[in-house]
Amino acid sequence: MRRILVAGNWKLNGSTETIKELLKGILAGISDAKADVAVCAPYIYIPLVQDILAGTEVGYGSQSISENDSGAFTGEISGPMLNDFACKYAIVGHSERRSLFCEKDTDTANKFAAARKHGLTPILCVGELLEEREQGITEEVVSRQLDAVIELEGVEALADAVIAYEPVWAIGTGKTASPQQAQDVHAFIRGKIAKLNAEVAEKVQILYGGSVNGGNADELFAMPDIDGGLIGGASLKAEDFLAICKAG
Ligand code: PEP
Repeated sequence: MRRILVAGNWKLNGSTETIKELLKGILAGISDAKADVAVCAPYIYIPLVQDILAGTEVGYGSQSISENDSGAFTGEISGPMLNDFACKYAIVGHSERRSLFCEKDTDTANKFAAARKHGLTPILCVGELLEEREQGITEEVVSRQLDAVIELEGVEALADAVIAYEPVWAIGTGKTASPQQAQDVHAFIRGKIAKLNAEVAEKVQILYGGSVNGGNADELFAMPDIDGGLIGGASLKAEDFLAICKAG
């Protein structure tokens, strides 16, 4: 039985004050969460998050990772640096990294490899644009994004990873994929992995991301291949985030 994971992606949001307040609120209400819970903070606030979450069951991580360990890569943060602050997760291939920062499938695969090399659990984001869905090529797009990782790291690497299916048209738009639309793609992803390794397919957690909130999380998480959510906007308010953590 796979566990449910709810991971917040704070993106470029927060300050010392608001993060203290947010985490205080989350910790106050977390005891009846049904899911495992994590937050992915802007790099500069990771030490603060580490301090506040020490000794709690809430995991934390970064929103990206450099494919390099050290060297002349201005502005980057590496796996060893994230280890220094005991991060558990690193998001890789978020659609905003792909579209706004020109990260290609191979860059995402290299970041995925870097996270694993340093014992971090990659949260690998995949998902199609609206026009790709309208062209009927969702499965092709998601397949291509997964293949880049499988070719570099092997399908076994997915056993210790998390996949997040995030249709780009649903991210931050208030338009959630219907539970069935999401389930169809999740089942496709699991089926694709199963053709290569049935055990890995059974084990890998596949989260849904895209305008998840307290009102739709129950239905989404009830689908057989949806193992939780990657949450953007609703992870910034303790009350909203907790409502999702208690779903399922
Ligand atoms: C995200 O950025 O990963 C995301 C799912 O955002 P939102 O929940 O705001 O759609």
